[in-house]
Amino acid sequence: MAMDEFQLLVDLHRDNDRQGPGGDEQTRRAIELSGLASRRGLKIADIGCGTGASTLVLARSLDAHITAVDFLPEFLERLDAAARETGLSDRITTLAQSMDALDFADDELDAIWAEGAIYSIGFEAGVRAWRRFLKPGGVLAVSEITWLTANPPAELREHWQGEYAEIAPASDKIACLEREGFTPVGYFPLPEHCWLDNYYRPLQARFAAFLEAHGHSPGAQAIVEDEKAEIALYERFSAFISYGFYIARKSEEWHLPQRALA
Ligand code: SAH
Repeated sequence: MAMDEFQLLVDLHRDNDRQGPGGDEQTRRAIELSGLASRRGLKIADIGCGTGASTLVLARSLDAHITAVDFLPEFLERLDAAARETGLSDRITTLAQSMDALDFADDELDAIWAEGAIYSIGFEAGVRAWRRFLKPGGVLAVSEITWLTANPPAELREHWQGEYAEIAPASDKIACLEREGFTPVGYFPLPEHCWLDNYYRPLQARFAAFLEAHGHSPGAQAIVEDEKAEIALYERFSAFISYGFYIARKSEEWHLPQRALA
C-alpha cells in the first residue's frame, strides 16, 4: 500500500471510536466468558487497540493494568486523551509497537485481548506467536472475521478471500486454537448492529468532511468508494458474515503437537 494511501486511511478512521466492528456490550460478554472478573491485579495486553474502545471497557470492568498496543501513534494519542478524561490513566499504558515484534516476557500476561486486529499478521500466526506471553491458564480473547455458514455466496466469498485468505467458519478457528495449545471456552458472533451502528454509520458520517479536507483528491475518492462498496456488500449479505469472538485458555504443554515440542 502506498504511504499516502495509508495516511489517508488513518485520517479517515482516527476520529471514530472504533476502527472495526465491535461493541462495549460484546467486550463485556467476552470478559464474562473469560472468567477474569473474579481475579485481582491482572496484567493484560490489548493488541491492535486502535483508539481503544475495548481498552476502556477492560479498564472499567476489571482490576487490571492494560498495555494497549498499536503501531499507529495517532490512534494511541486518542486513547491516552480518553483515558485521562475518564480517570483511567493509571490503569492504561499505551505502547507503539508492531504486533509481530512484541517484547512482552514469557508467561507475563494474564490475558491477551485483540478485537478485529489479529488478521494483520494472520489468525494462526498470531495465536502461535503470542501464546508464550501468557501465563499457564492465561486467556486469549480475539475477534476475527468469520463465515456464519459453511457455504457463503460466491460474490461475498470472492471479495473477502481477496482481502483476507484466512477467512473461515468458526469451527476452523476453534480447531486452530486447539491445535496451537489453547482450550476454547467461548465463541459468539457479533450481531449486525456492531457493524452498522457502531462501525459503518460513523464511518459514513465522516466521508463528506474527509473528502473536503483532502480536496476531493483521486486517492481520497478511491478510499471512500472502496468503503462504500464494502458497506453495500455487507448490507446485502450480513446473514453470512460477521466477526466471531473467540475466548480460549492457554492449555498445558503436553497438548501441543510434535512440531511445537521438537
Ligand atoms: N481494536 C480496535 C481497532 C481494530 S482495527 C477496534 O476494535 O476498534 C485494527 C487495528 O490494528 C488498527 O488500529 C491498526 O492500526 C492496528 N494494526 C494493524 N496492523 C498492526 C501491526 N502490525 N501492529 C500493531 N498494530 C497493528
